[in-house]
Amino acid sequence: MADYLKIPFNGIKNPFDGHIHIFRWYDTERNIDFLHGLEEYRKECGLKYIALAPLPAGKGRERDVGNNIICAFYKLANKNTYSYGGILYPTYPVKSEDLAEMTLARQHDELMEIGFDGIKMLEGKPNLYRCIGNSLDSDFYEELFRIAEGNGTYILMHASDPSVFWDEAKATPENLAKGWCYSDSSYPGYEEIYEQIENVLSRHPRLNLCLAHFFFLSPNPEKLAKLLDTYPNLTVDITPGGEMYIDFNANPKYFYDFFVKYQDRIIFGTDMAFPVNLEAGKWLCDREYRFFNESTSLMSFDDNVITGIKIPSECNQKIFSDNLLSKLGAKPKEINKKALKAYIEKYRHLIQDKKLLARIDELSIQYL
Ligand SMILES: [Zn+2]
Repeated sequence: MADYLKIPFNGIKNPFDGHIHIFRWYDTERNIDFLHGLEEYRKECGLKYIALAPLPAGKGRERDVGNNIICAFYKLANKNTYSYGGILYPTYPVKSEDLAEMTLARQHDELMEIGFDGIKMLEGKPNLYRCIGNSLDSDFYEELFRIAEGNGTYILMHASDPSVFWDEAKATPENLAKGWCYSDSSYPGYEEIYEQIENVLSRHPRLNLCLAHFFFLSPNPEKLAKLLDTYPNLTVDITPGGEMYIDFNANPKYFYDFFVKYQDRIIFGTDMAFPVNLEAGKWLCDREYRFFNESTSLMSFDDNVITGIKIPSECNQKIFSDNLLSKLGAKPKEINKKALKAYIEKYRHLIQDKKLLARIDELSIQYL
């Protein structure tokens, strides 16, 4: 069913995918290095800009500083590429006193000096939250949010997850395998995460925070509307979670009004990643584009048929490009080569994969 993207992002000027990952530095299946690995996706989908969201925190494979560094090189090697940077942790669970020379405030400044365009935080996803072991509104994060608010640093944060992930009876085998079932009490409660984010926002009301995946509030958009009304710099992205689109579709009139009302506060993203599944990427771009820009029915997430809500084109121009450009600036920040070099020096001992380290050294000679 390759009926998608006949005219990629028709009518949108400078389409911008604001939520993309690089999961591995090398695609071993297709023998492709990461360095230009998302350019085919960008071209095929007609995306002018992309923003990378490194995931250096956590215990998984390639979850370390290497992920920030390769995203910085990606910016250097490919124009019109933005990237957030991620915070590093020396041990898990993390105590403030373990941080020593890598306090969150200091890391914020290092990332900004290198030329990252914002900060990506997965720290509100319950499995990483539990691994780090600090609540989002605790002193542990306080300095980071204070500095980010003061400097206007854009933070793309994943906080919470679909509420069914807390219900063991509804857990799918795939989610169980990924550790995405939070029914036991070692995880933060569903409501708890919302309370913590609200505490952070009430302390830092001007925080330039984007909550990924609609803050998982598609079943309760009134709650999101209240937050958007209270906090002027708060945004959300419409990166699937397919469940979001199914909820949007179930209440089209309400969400039409919602997206028109909050047209300045909604940001497009796909969660596309390297190694690339090009067909999946095109499909995602197309489903999101068509849901917002057309009024036809289409097969969508989890084999649901959904009908586009076709909001006015000026709203779509903002959602699919202008809103994030106005947050991050009309051009990606330049990479400060000296600062990147110093950062690699400081943190290279944390890179677990020696082949990646060798690749980074090679790129340093070529680019820095
Ligand atoms: Zn993501």
